[in-house]
This record gives sequence, C-alpha cells and structure tokens, in this order.
Amino acid sequence: MPAPESDDPARLTGPSHRGTGPGNRGTGAAGTTRTAQAPPSSPPRRDPPPRSTPKDLFDQVVASLEAASDERQTASAQAAASSIAMELTPFFRSRYARYGGPAPFRPGEPVPIVVLNAAGFAVELEAYRASLVEDERDLLTTYAPGRVSRFLSGGSRGPETSVVKVRRGTKLTPDQLELLLPSGPRLAATSTAGGFFSTSKKTIYLRADQVSVGAVAHELSHAYTSHWWSELQIALVLQRGTVSTPVGPKSIGEIFTLVDEGLASILAQRAIDDWYASPPARASAPKPATKPRGLVGYLPTVGVHAENFIGVIDGTAGSPRGNTLASFFGGQIRFTIDESVPGDSEVQFGRDTRRRLKEVLT
Ligand SMILES: [Zn+2]
Repeated sequence: MPAPESDDPARLTGPSHRGTGPGNRGTGAAGTTRTAQAPPSSPPRRDPPPRSTPKDLFDQVVASLEAASDERQTASAQAAASSIAMELTPFFRSRYARYGGPAPFRPGEPVPIVVLNAAGFAVELEAYRASLVEDERDLLTTYAPGRVSRFLSGGSRGPETSVVKVRRGTKLTPDQLELLLPSGPRLAATSTAGGFFSTSKKTIYLRADQVSVGAVAHELSHAYTSHWWSELQIALVLQRGTVSTPVGPKSIGEIFTLVDEGLASILAQRAIDDWYASPPARASAPKPATKPRGLVGYLPTVGVHAENFIGVIDGTAGSPRGNTLASFFGGQIRFTIDESVPGDSEVQFGRDTRRRLKEVLT
C-alpha cells in the first residue's frame, strides 16, 4: 500500500540539484552537453523556426535546463533508494525471512525499485489504481457472491425463487462490474501516494522527491507481505459491513487497510532500528542523523489499529510476534467470510485461536 506524501524531516535524499533556472547554469560539466537533451516538444530543425524571438530561445534554454535538472534529481534519488534498500534488506531477512512465504518476495530478497519524476510517477500510480480495481473485480464473485446475486436478481425485493446463483466463475459484464464495484478504501488511500508497491508488477515505485529511508523501508514491508494476506484485504474491502471502534463504526475494509498500513510501518521501523543499532559496515547509504520513522506520512493514529490487532492475536502490546509475522509475511491465515454479517466472519491468524473478525479489528 502506498505511503502518502511525507514531509519527514529525516528524509535522506532531497534533490541535490535544486537549480532549474538559468542562474544555476554553472553547476558542472554537464552544462556543456545539455543542448543534446532538448525536450521532445522542440525537435532540432534544419531551418530556423518561423518568428523565433529571443524570448522563444530563452524559454527553450530554460526548458532544456529544467529537463536536465529533473533527470539528474531522479537519477540521484534512484541511486539513493537502491542503496538504502541494499542496507535495509539484510535486516528484513534476519528478522522476518523465517516467517515468509514464496510470494511475492521472501523477506530480505532484493525487490526492484523504480524512482520516477512527478509526471512518470503519476502514470504508474494510475496504472496501479487500475490494477487494484482489477484485483477487486476478479474476487468479487468469490467473496461477495450474495451481493452480486442480489444485483443480478434486480435488488433485494425479488422473491427468493428468482435469485440468481453466483459462484466463482460467474461472468459479469464490464457495465455490471462498474455498478457493483465499491469505490474502495484502498483506492482512497492511494490518492496522495508518494510511493507504492505494485503487486501486479512486483516493483516498488517512489516519486523522486519522496525517497527516504522510511519510505523505502515501508514499501519493502509491503513487498514482503504475503499474497494471501493481500487477498484477505481485498475480500474485506468487498464487504459492506462495519466494526465498532473508539471513534464510532468504521468500514471493515477501511480498518483492515489501516491495520495493514500500521503493520507495514511497525515492521519497517524494526528493520530501521536494527540498521541503526548495527555497527557501521561497508555502508552504501549513510544513515540520516535523525532516525527515520517507518510510519511514513501517516498520522500516528494509523498505528493504533495495528497495535490492537497485534495485542489480540499475539497477546503482546503492540510488539509483533509469531502469529502476526506468520500471517503478514507467510500468509498463514484461514478465513470464512460471512457476507451477511461481515464482522462475524471467522478468521485465524497464524496459530492463534479462531476468532470473529470484529474481535481483531478494533
Ligand atoms: Zn503503505
């Protein structure tokens, strides 16, 4: 899941070249080669462009300088993100690998990271959102067959005999899917994302200006999250049901998404803590002076739901143990969705006893 934009003061790698105007021309030898990187909007012409004014030429120079600077910032953020990941992955491995399953990555395995400028990132984010919708559509008849059935039968008013039977393979038209699909808390959560792990592309994407130790660690947690945990998340996002929380009833999908985000942050924080506690080795990335947080960009309240979850299934106050780790990384989860009363759905995380969903989502 995505990390919203962060104004984390501990961000490691701000743009190292801020200058984009002509005043910053003298920043290095690259200045002599910049004319080769003119943006596609101004291709080289054999004839001088018609009515080319000094202002046009000036604008062209500025645009090419900006493009070059943007490219440099992205490249340097990419290098930083890759180094940070190299530093952190051994700590994910030593703490979590024994709990992890094969998909998509076992904790500690290298994960592809792609850093993009704002425009490129926006394109990938859109593609990621589309893949989330696709995931939800794929699992709709599996986890919400009753809802689909009622929809296909023309609403809940119809007599029992007219109810359309829905099973896993039931095919729905694009129009029907459009009407059935909830807007989805997962989609809302991506609205201001500065980074995310794409399960479909098995790649972490980060926006160049959002690269930080916290962001990389947080997205690594998501990359190591088991496929089955993610499927449970989708199953719950598809339910229309609430659980009670200290601040009133909340949608089940929303609360589980907050648990997922909180866990990603808590588990990332442990890897960061381990890194900071370890002696300086052949560091490919320097540690920021202020220790970063794995809870990138989220309000501290996000962690509360995860801490409650851990408290229930591991019996430890906010400190993840075997049941949390085996279910989050290893996918050791059993669940049976009760579509009519989703809060009563039966769930079992790791070796914990079977519980009602509403017990663990608070
Ligand atoms: Zn996240």
